[in-house]
Amino acid sequence: MARRSVDVPALVESARAGSPRAVARLISLVEDGHGSLREVMAMLAPHAGNAWVIGITGSPGVGKSTTTTALVGAFRERGLRVGVLAVDPSSPFSGGALLGDRIRMQDHALDPEVYIRSMASRGHLGGLSFTTPQAIRVLDAAGCDVVLVETVGVGQSEVEIAGLADTSVVLLAPGMGDGIQAAKAGILEIGDVFVVNKADRDGADATVRDLRHMISLGDRTEPGLWRPPVVKTVAAQKIGIDEVMEALDKHRAHLEENGELARRRERRVADEIETIALATLRARLGHLGGREGVLALARDVMAGRTDPYAAADRLVEQLGT
Ligand code: GDP
Repeated sequence: MARRSVDVPALVESARAGSPRAVARLISLVEDGHGSLREVMAMLAPHAGNAWVIGITGSPGVGKSTTTTALVGAFRERGLRVGVLAVDPSSPFSGGALLGDRIRMQDHALDPEVYIRSMASRGHLGGLSFTTPQAIRVLDAAGCDVVLVETVGVGQSEVEIAGLADTSVVLLAPGMGDGIQAAKAGILEIGDVFVVNKADRDGADATVRDLRHMISLGDRTEPGLWRPPVVKTVAAQKIGIDEVMEALDKHRAHLEENGELARRRERRVADEIETIALATLRARLGHLGGREGVLALARDVMAGRTDPYAAADRLVEQLGT
């Protein structure tokens, strides 16, 4: 599959003209680490940079898919084109049972202004930190005004994906000890908007209180800094979704007012460049690893003529040339 040749200009043109199939195909190329990606990204780059990227994260079962579906509806009511990327760092299968089951977006399945796509970790190159920003760029260049990136919370990857978003929404549910877990996992730092979903269940108010208290103990108390709001929802009944939208809008305005939006995006692209550079270096290193030069260094280390650090320095020098 990786070798099949692709008419990149035609595909990019179709995607920009709004063909869902072309968008899906481009994201598949990203997922496969296809050889044409360099050309794809070069053609997309001038058209990207407009989408508002919103990350939605939280433990399995907390209501991410339900909330995402409701938010898609709210953005569609504003007449916006919406992309949804459901990212599952724990599964190597794209569109597998887990994700397929999770994305209950039947409400939007027939809407041509909504692109929904799931992506899983394929364990190649930089993994999801490599593929997710590129998939976001595809949706962005295809004219999505908003891209919702839904991630299954699994600790560190949750934090990494949050780095990809302009606005990060952290979902919790009452009675799961989630507040404390959030504090432990560093989730309190990444959330721009906190949502306590399943507010129809006992304990929602206590969870909201806990969260507000923990946020107030954090380091975001200086004037002018964004104080993350905590919103209660019953996503399954679309209750509280207007309040979530309001919180998102306020955060967006805050980002724009103080230049933080540009700074976040700059950091994001810098991370992306670094990820690609590291993947390139790793590929070259892998190539060198089998070479006589590295084997000679290995023999030097084994014979005690040098040490692995000094040998690695020599290898890095060789890579630069
Ligand atoms: P995800 O795994 O985080 O994407 O969670 P889902 O959106 O798939 O929701 C998990 C389950 O919780 C589903 O059965 C939903 O119908 C249910 N659910 C979602 N929102 C609510 C809510 O506000 N209240 C209640 N009681 N159940 C909800």
